[in-house]
Amino acid sequence: MSRLFYQTRLARPELDRAEGIHMWDVTGKRYIDGSSGAMVSNIGHSNPRVLAAMHKQMERATFGYRLHFQTEASEALAERAAALAPEGLGRVFFVSGGSEAVESAMKLARQYALSRGEAQRYKVIARTPSYHGATLGALSVTGYAPMTAPFDPMMRPMPKVPAPRAYLDGLDAEDPATGLHYAAMLEARILEEGPETVLAFIVEPVGGASTGALVPPAEYMREIRKICDTYGVLLIHDEVMSGGGRTGRFFGAEHWDVAPDLICLSKGFGGGYVPLGAVIARDDMVETVLDHGGFIHGHTYAGNPLACAAGLAVLEEIDTQDLTGNAARMGDVLASRLRDLKQKYPVIGDVRGKGLLLAFELMRDRASKAPLPATLNAHSRLVEIAYENGLILYSRRTRGGLSGDHFLVCPPMIVNAEQVEEIVDLLDKSLARFV
Ligand code: PLP
Repeated sequence: MSRLFYQTRLARPELDRAEGIHMWDVTGKRYIDGSSGAMVSNIGHSNPRVLAAMHKQMERATFGYRLHFQTEASEALAERAAALAPEGLGRVFFVSGGSEAVESAMKLARQYALSRGEAQRYKVIARTPSYHGATLGALSVTGYAPMTAPFDPMMRPMPKVPAPRAYLDGLDAEDPATGLHYAAMLEARILEEGPETVLAFIVEPVGGASTGALVPPAEYMREIRKICDTYGVLLIHDEVMSGGGRTGRFFGAEHWDVAPDLICLSKGFGGGYVPLGAVIARDDMVETVLDHGGFIHGHTYAGNPLACAAGLAVLEEIDTQDLTGNAARMGDVLASRLRDLKQKYPVIGDVRGKGLLLAFELMRDRASKAPLPATLNAHSRLVEIAYENGLILYSRRTRGGLSGDHFLVCPPMIVNAEQVEEIVDLLDKSLARFV
């Protein structure tokens, strides 16, 4: 018996090594990393240039506590991350993961409000379904009852509005009226809560695990920006999964040309080489908070030079190899091949996403959008079949009708056309066994 434990007793093969888009277990079996782990290993495994950069930094210093030293690596990474962000968002706060990024953004927003004499603003409206992290603060804005309900008494669950799942509601996502319809729900909720109490709205520009790569309907992203401005509500883009180039732009929100007040980054930012995340914030917000006694927040490993050197090398790789462009191009190919599979397998009810943040959702009936019976445990079954076939998929289980049995197909952004075909062939083979 292993002394380790995670969510369940699920036994997994022992990983031996990983390179590019492939992983091998100790028996020598090869897998295609069809989900980049949990949408993390965006530039692929064992990139020699990232490893060299890490090694070089390790020989200099692996750790320098941020309150004792500035480091070249953290300064350079902050500079580079800020340069990627929209105009006016020029300040960077490092963390070690997505939940930390979300909580840091929430706390910075709160301190900004306090600095401005708006102590009554504390509510952070979020969406259902959504996933913003597992720690109690991040969980308070997560709209996914199976994960949040047991902990409700230990936190202050925040108000939620429905995520714009036009495909489930029978609405046309291309019609601007659809985006306005969902955005109006945010406005109604702000009014209901009392605008003077609402601090922020947090949103995943392209949905991640909870909605399965949900792409917002036309006009939604721009309209929510306008609504937030109207009521003095800060807008937080949680780009933990959608950031880093995977959608075909560095930040998912660039597809709609909207700027938030705060951006949360992680996953692809460290690319699986190190635990790394960041909040990129509006310069004036940070200045205001620093002028009023400083930001009362920080984590031990924040901005450590090893993580920052790795992050810098990851960004360099994304840039020099045009991996964002490749994600856009290969994403188009993969999306089209997934739509072919939808033609072939009636059980596939929807294919969606942007760039290489793609998903398909299984349904009992396409017309009614009825989910597969929970007893079928499609989530685990298809994942296991694909696993046997040497393809790693990432899935969320249907629970309480909150989300369907969707499967994220998100290979590393270095994937080529031949490898896309191989992924689709393995998926085809797996679906044939599943149905
Ligand atoms: N936000 C989003 C959009 C995520 O997808 C995740 C993780 O899946 C998180 C936050 C939490 O990140 P972490 O697991 O690194 O704490």
